[in-house]
This record gives sequence, structure tokens and C-alpha cells, in this order.
Amino acid sequence: MGWYRPQSVEEAIKILEEKSPKIVCGGTDLFVQLTTRQTEFSQSDHWLDIQNLSELKKIERTDEGIEVGAAVTAAEIWQSPVLQPLPALQKAARVVGGWQIQNRASIGGNIANASPAGDMIVPLAAYQARIKIASPNGVRILPFDEIITGPKKTQLAQNEMILSVLIPKESLGVPQTFLRHDQRGGTDISLVSVAALVKGTTSKIELAQIAIGAAHYKPMVLKDLTDRLDGTLTTDQLDRIAEWYAENCQPISDIRASAEYRRAMVKVFVKKAITEVLSLNESL
Ligand SMILES: Cc1cc2nc3c(=O)[nH]c(=O)nc-3n(C[C@H](O)[C@H](O)[C@H](O)COP(=O)(O)OP(=O)(O)OC[C@H]3O[C@@H](n4cnc5c(N)ncnc54)[C@H](O)[C@@H]3O)c2cc1C
Repeated sequence: MGWYRPQSVEEAIKILEEKSPKIVCGGTDLFVQLTTRQTEFSQSDHWLDIQNLSELKKIERTDEGIEVGAAVTAAEIWQSPVLQPLPALQKAARVVGGWQIQNRASIGGNIANASPAGDMIVPLAAYQARIKIASPNGVRILPFDEIITGPKKTQLAQNEMILSVLIPKESLGVPQTFLRHDQRGGTDISLVSVAALVKGTTSKIELAQIAIGAAHYKPMVLKDLTDRLDGTLTTDQLDRIAEWYAENCQPISDIRASAEYRRAMVKVFVKKAITEVLSLNESL
């Protein structure tokens, strides 16, 4: 077994190529899965610890929007002044576990773990973010919508590492929210969540992007919602949007809630989120 702490992305990629290690960042998912035997491991496994890799810790404003490094933690996200134009992401980061978890849980880990109940991934879907991925073959950029392929499954290859998340400038400063329905706050995970971005008023909608979480194998987005609305948002349309999400999502029944309950809550929370953001628009 080897525990590797690279000093640069270049070194990390070399280790990925030569040792085929398991990537570990905050370890808040991985080590729970190891102790509960959800992930196979052997004494001879190698580990690539990227938690303190400075290249993955940056939060930067760019010409295209904001780039958030994969090792940036939930606590760093909700406390970052650079990320203030993205309050839905900051609200999602603020509800990830409790303080201890927020200080370790990385945004890259939230994506790569691909839990249907993941919180930070929901606003990323609503923003139509892109994911920058590196491997010994080079760097590729993937639309967020394509990375998660099933519950806890991604299309990341064994030798690939998420470098950062690219959030487009069109999402910055747009009135937005993130709502999470859970039973016990910081000690619980999401039953249903919604990230909503809406720019404009009910008679003049300029942008509408909504993602729901914990009710489908990945955050679910109604594509081209802005175009479908054709400039306005009536009460009927609001009902139809909420119904579309409730009808098309595929929630599971588990110890926390039944699929029927989750579906019903999707309808309630989509309407609640859109209404909340419209009231933010009115106060601008
Ligand atoms: C008590 C508790 C409460 C929690 N509550 C919540 C919650 O409310 N909401 C929520 O969303 N999550 C919650 N989680 C889950 C977890 O904290 C998050 O998913 C977190 O973002 C994972 O990040 P990490 O850095 O700890 O990932 P790790 O555990 O280090 O890694 C998780 C997976 O991602 C892979 N990985 C990590 N970084 C990369 C990378 N850069 N490139 C490629 N692969 C990578 C690892 O190999 C592993 O498979 C909770 C966990 C615990 C233990």
C-alpha cells in the first residue's frame, strides 16, 4: 500500500498512470464506504490524497464565469466572497452534513460520489456547469449533465481526476435559491431538493433553469425551460412545470421516505422555489 500526496496536478496524473490509486479528497464518503464495505479495498491498494493540492483549491473569477477547484470544501464554498453571486450553491454547501463534514467535504467528491442525495451537485446542474477532468491522456471538459450515469456511477475512468467545475457567467447574480427538504437538518441527507434560477417577472421571464435532487438517479433538469415558457410564467404554467418534474422523476422508496411522498414533495418544492425566486426579482 502507498499513500501519495502529490505537490502538483502533473505529479498526481503521473501517480494515476503508474499506480492506479484510489483518489481520496475529504474522505467523508470514501472512508464511510470502506468501513461499511460498500467499496472493495485491499491492503495493497494505493491512495492518491488530493485534499491539499493547491491547484485544486482555487476559486477564481474568469472571463467565462467562475472556476471552482475540485478540492474546495463546502465550508470554503459558503464562506467565499467570490461565490456570493451564486447563492444557490452557497446555500447547498451550507447544508452538507454538519460543521465537521463541511470542513472536509469537497465539491469534486460530491460529484464523483454521484449520490442521488448529493446537495452541491443540484445547483451545478441548474447552472449547466461543466466539469474539467484530467488524465494521462490530457484534459477534457464535460457538460455536468453527462458525468453522472447512474446512482453512485459516473463516466470517470479509473485514471481520471476532476480538476474543477466551470460555472458559466450567465448564472452569476441571477436571482436563485436552493431548498432542501429533510427530517433532521445537519445530521440527515436530503429527501428532495431544488435549485432554481429565474430572471425576470411573471410577465417577462428572461431565464429559468431548475434542477431537482434526491428524486432521481441524478439532478434532473427540464431542458430549454426558458424557451418553453415563451417569456411569461402564469399560475397554470407554474403548476405544469411542477407536475412535469413530479411525473418524470424516478425517486426511490427507502427508510427515509416513500417514492410517492418524494414525488409529492417535488411538486411542492419546485413551486416553492420558483415563487421564492420570483419574489427576489420583485425586490430588485
Ligand atoms: C455524516 C455525513 C453527512 C453527510 N451529509 C451530506 C449532505 O448533507 N449532503 C451531501 O451532499 N453529502 C453529504 N455527505 C456526503 C459527503 O460529505 C459529500 O458527498 C462530500 O462532498 C464528498 O467529498 P469528499 O471530499 O469527502 O469525497 P471523498 O470521500 O474523498 O471521495 C468520494 C468519492 O469521490 C472520488 N473523488 C474525490 N475527489 C475526486 C476528484 N477530484 N476526481 C475524481 N474522483 C474524486 C473518490 O475516489 C471517491 O470515490 C455526508 C457524509 C457524512 C459522513
